[in-house]
Amino acid sequence: MTVAHRLGTYEVAFLEPAEAERKLPGDALIVTDENVWAAWGKTFGKGRRVLVLPSGESTKSLSHFERCLKWLAEEGADRGATLVALGGGVIGDLAGFVASTYMRGIRYIQVPTTLVAQVDSSVGGKVAVDLPEGKNLVGAFYPPEEVLICPEVLLTLPWREFANGMAEVWKYGFILDADLVRALRHLRLTPQSAMLESVIRRCIQLKIEVVEQDESDTSGLRAVLNFGHTVGHALEKVLKYESLLHGEAVAIGMVAESKLGERLGVTARGTTEDITACLQLDGLPVTHDSLGLAETVGAMYADKKAEGGQLAFSLLTRIGECKLVKDVPRADVEAVMQAL
Ligand code: NAD
Ligand code: ZN
Repeated sequence: MTVAHRLGTYEVAFLEPAEAERKLPGDALIVTDENVWAAWGKTFGKGRRVLVLPSGESTKSLSHFERCLKWLAEEGADRGATLVALGGGVIGDLAGFVASTYMRGIRYIQVPTTLVAQVDSSVGGKVAVDLPEGKNLVGAFYPPEEVLICPEVLLTLPWREFANGMAEVWKYGFILDADLVRALRHLRLTPQSAMLESVIRRCIQLKIEVVEQDESDTSGLRAVLNFGHTVGHALEKVLKYESLLHGEAVAIGMVAESKLGERLGVTARGTTEDITACLQLDGLPVTHDSLGLAETVGAMYADKKAEGGQLAFSLLTRIGECKLVKDVPRADVEAVMQAL
C-alpha cells in the first residue's frame, strides 16, 4: 500500500518479522521499549545500535526526546542516518518526532508492534511528545520512510492491549465501513486469527483515504476519525490516564457520542445498542462508574477542539457512515453524559 503526502510517498508493507529485519538498513539505529525488546530484541537487534527506553506513556516526554537526540549524537549519527521506531504508539510518536528534528530531519522507519500502532499511529505522519500540561502538545507532521507491519509481533501483546487496539478497529468500521463491522462480528479477532492481516490492511486503507485528503488536519475531513475521541480524551484526562487505556476510553466515548447523535436526530435509532454489542464482544468497557459528569464535560470544553466554546463531533448517521456536526449545544452533551 502506498501513502501519498505533500513531500512524496511511502510504502506500508506486510512482512514476517525476520523479513522486516532484513529490510532495515545495516546501520539503522533502533529506538524501542523494554517490553518490545524483551519479546523481539533477538529478532530485530542483531548487531545494531539500540536505545531501550522504559515502557509507558511517560516515555513520550521532552526528557526522553532529549535523551534520544543525545544518543544519536553520541553514536555519531549524521544526516544520512535512519532511525527505526520499534514499538507501539509511544515509541512511534517519540522516535518520529526525534527524527523530524535531529539535524533538521533524518529518515525513520515505523515498525509498529501494537494493534493501535499498526492500524493507526504508524500511518499518517503525526509525531509528538506530551507536556505535563497535556498530551501531544509538541510535535510535527513528519512522514516515515516506510512502515513495516508484522502482524505476528502481536502474538506477544497482552490481551488488554489487543482489545485496546480493537476499539480503533471497530471505530473504522463504525465510521466508514459497514462490511467491516459485519465481518468483525463473526470473526471475533484474536492475535492468532488468520484474518488479522486483512483486517489491519482494511483499517490502514481507510485511514490512508482520509489522511491523504487532509494531511495536516485542517479541512475537517480528518476529524471524522475522532469519533468517540471527544468524550474519550476528556475521560482519559479526568481519570489522569490511569485507570483506562486510550481505546477503552474511546469505546465509552463512541457509545456516548452515538447516544448524542441519536438525541440530535443525526444517528439512526438503535445504533447505540448495536455498537455497544460489538464493543462488548471484545470485552471493551461501554460505561464507567466514576464518571465525574461536570469534570468530564468541563474537560471536553477545555480541549483544543472546542472552538469558540462550541464542540464539533464526528457522529454516525448509521453504522458505516458518519459526518462532522458543528455547534452541538452543550445542554445535549450534558444530558447524554448524565444518562451514561
Ligand atoms: P504503547 O506504545 O504504550 O504500547 C502499549 C504496551 O504494549 C506497552 O507496555 C508496550 O511496552 C507493550 N508492547 C508493545 N508492543 C508489544 C509486543 N509486540 N509485545 C508485548 N508487549 C508490547 O501504546 P499504544 O497503544 O501502542 O500507543 C499509544 C500512543 O500512541 C499514545 O501516546 C497515543 O497518543 C499515540 N497515538 C498516536 C497516533 C498518531 O496518529 N500519531 C494515533 C493513535 C495513538
Ligand atoms: Zn484513538
